[in-house]
Amino acid sequence: MARNKQPRAASGPAQGGPEPGATVAEDALERYRERLQAELDELTVQAEELEQAANANTPEGSGEVGFDEEFSDAGSYTFERERDLSLSNNARDLIEKIRHALSRIDRGTFGRCETCGNPIEPDRLDALPYATLCLADARRQVRLR
Ligand SMILES: [Zn+2]
Repeated sequence: MARNKQPRAASGPAQGGPEPGATVAEDALERYRERLQAELDELTVQAEELEQAANANTPEGSGEVGFDEEFSDAGSYTFERERDLSLSNNARDLIEKIRHALSRIDRGTFGRCETCGNPIEPDRLDALPYATLCLADARRQVRLR
């Protein structure tokens, strides 16, 4: 009567393990690529507009701003120009990050921390698709600065 219950499939799913390289599923990867590409296009336009705004000191064509007026306003003018330049630098910065992320998609390293090699948290990647570090390493880097 003793039924021999042999645990045949006891060896479990011990084989395989995490595959190197396949951190993000391919369809998700495509979505990230589209998001990044769209953001890149937008930022490129933005950066160009900001640079043009910063470089075009004289509001040509408006004709309404007199010479004197322009001079009395010189202070805020410089400020605005500086603000535009720093904004465009930020945009350029972000553009670089996004380009880097896109090349990581091409190379199959997207979603992997560049410091420790572990997968970047999906939540983090979703919020910052151009993140190159896992949360722990990103925090460490901020502290080092
Ligand atoms: Zn890491």
